[in-house]
Amino acid sequence: IEQHKIRNFSIIAHIDHGKSTLADRILEMTGAVSDREMKAQLLDSMELERERGITIKLNAVQLQYKAKDGQTYLLHLIDTPGHVDFTYEVSRSLAACEGAVLVVDAAQGVEAQTLANVYLALDNDLEILPVINKVDLPSANPQRVIKEIEDVIGLPADHAPLISAKSGLNVQDVLEMIVRDIPAPQGSADNPTQALIFDSFYDSYRGVVVFVRIKEGSIKVGDHIKFMATGATYEVTEVGVRTPAEIKKDELVCGEVGWISAAIKSIQNVHVGDTITTLENESYEQLPGYRKLNPMVYCGLYPVDNSKYKNLREALEKIQLSDSSLVFEPETSQALGFGFRCGFLGLLHMDVIQERLEREFDLELIATAPSVIYRVYLTDKTMVEIDNPAMMPAPQVIDFIEEPYVKASIMTPNEYIGSIMELCQSKRGEYVDIEYIDDTRRNIIYNIPLSEIVYDFFDKLKSSTKGYASFDYELIGYRESKLQKMDILLNGDVVDALSSIVHKDFAYSRGKVICEKLKEIIPKQMFEVPVQAALQGKIIARTTIKAMRKNVLAKCYGGDISRKKKLLEKQKEGKKRMKAVGSVEIPQEAFMAILSVD
Ligand code: GDP
Ligand code: MG
Repeated sequence: IEQHKIRNFSIIAHIDHGKSTLADRILEMTGAVSDREMKAQLLDSMELERERGITIKLNAVQLQYKAKDGQTYLLHLIDTPGHVDFTYEVSRSLAACEGAVLVVDAAQGVEAQTLANVYLALDNDLEILPVINKVDLPSANPQRVIKEIEDVIGLPADHAPLISAKSGLNVQDVLEMIVRDIPAPQGSADNPTQALIFDSFYDSYRGVVVFVRIKEGSIKVGDHIKFMATGATYEVTEVGVRTPAEIKKDELVCGEVGWISAAIKSIQNVHVGDTITTLENESYEQLPGYRKLNPMVYCGLYPVDNSKYKNLREALEKIQLSDSSLVFEPETSQALGFGFRCGFLGLLHMDVIQERLEREFDLELIATAPSVIYRVYLTDKTMVEIDNPAMMPAPQVIDFIEEPYVKASIMTPNEYIGSIMELCQSKRGEYVDIEYIDDTRRNIIYNIPLSEIVYDFFDKLKSSTKGYASFDYELIGYRESKLQKMDILLNGDVVDALSSIVHKDFAYSRGKVICEKLKEIIPKQMFEVPVQAALQGKIIARTTIKAMRKNVLAKCYGGDISRKKKLLEKQKEGKKRMKAVGSVEIPQEAFMAILSVD
């Protein structure tokens, strides 16, 4: 098909505004899938994703659409992840497109991630096509939303299709608009080859399969491809597209989107955002925008069963194939043994990886509380980055400490402004601005330490606004803060995995809360266990876990045998996630206790 009949696009939206539903309708209407095949939300193929209703894994589908002008167009729909943690992936998949369909819920209007996604699309010079979805809802107010898109985003929206992705109403207008308003890809098949990597996954037969957008030149079977960031080269064994069924082709040419496999066994060479060229038609210029991803949140992951250390390493390596933003390195904890320090883009990302490790790889893990990266300036004028509180240098050699700050924007109905500001203040937030959206809503902006967001900000925000506020944040840099390490002692011994970094003004109250919480969580042992919080060796809080009085079984007096069994099983279940630290058995939840603030 000629290049001028290709359209490459993404769908962007705030979560739940109907991105996946619209993608489903488009797939259906272009005949990509029959009704029978049409399981709900095909693009969100991972089990975990569907359960959580978020899109983690990117995917690209080739579609044929016969437009009203009688011509048949080749559309590539590139799916983007829908969460603030995956900004870089979103931006790279947008970089593979010429346009983006912006879905806005006709009842909810513009929300925090609507804006964040629009900015990413603008950064990539995309044509943005607004679409008002869910017009079938009784609470839909398309005219208000159109005005909002024009006022808040500054995009003309009076011609935006008013659709119901659910029923299919007016979805054809979206396809017509894509064909009419999104530019065909530029570039030439004769130029030196440049292909943008926007996704990859691991296949146990073929190795790493890479998703690319060919920006210049072409890639065919037998070519020798070169990953420009690392210089690694491979011979191409297969190329193809997804429709969404996998279809092999001889070559991918300029403007197209598809996959490449080349018996790539080494994960280290494949990075989202990198450029692939070929030795046959070599380019010496990398496509713009490549950057190494910087994780924002770290935690330690340890197998409950120490003999599973190697399995954990293999699982992390496999996940890294489809998720180049995961980083990890070996770590040893006195309390937990051998494990890995893992870096994530954010909290959701961390959650998702943990869950995948447990489900897909059948591992049982102990995770330590998440930490941000602190910059510690030492008295000898050097600086070290600390992502594990236990590694904090001694106070005598520290000059000062900086922590990462984010700019948080919270879009909210007016009635919650007060409670949101209160919440932000209590999280050491610094007021920046309140922006007017319309008569009923505002956008509240605060600068807040990332570590406070890592604690329980999301939950607190949700509960104090009944879920009506939407939230987005971006890193704005590092600032000096009065921080120090707080240690937790069990039975008189410091447990390294329970150390945390606290602000001086909150140290005493937090120490007390953590001790109380640990007392609740750690089951009674055969002996009394003192729980203490300490700053620089000085005890600031203490509780005691009383000794166990009698055997659990003694409670049921021999009577009901099945009840006894149940009790034993329950104990065993509970035991699974227990880790013996010194002489004390600690459950997983204990390591999260240091996140509790009240
Ligand atoms: P995403 O998070 O943007 O991918 O949103 P989904 O496509 O998963 O949709 C979120 C919810 O909105 C689902 O329960 C959909 O069934 C529902 N939904 C999507 N489009 C429409 C629509 O046009 N009308 C109505 N009433 N519900 C819709
Ligand atoms: Mg979705």
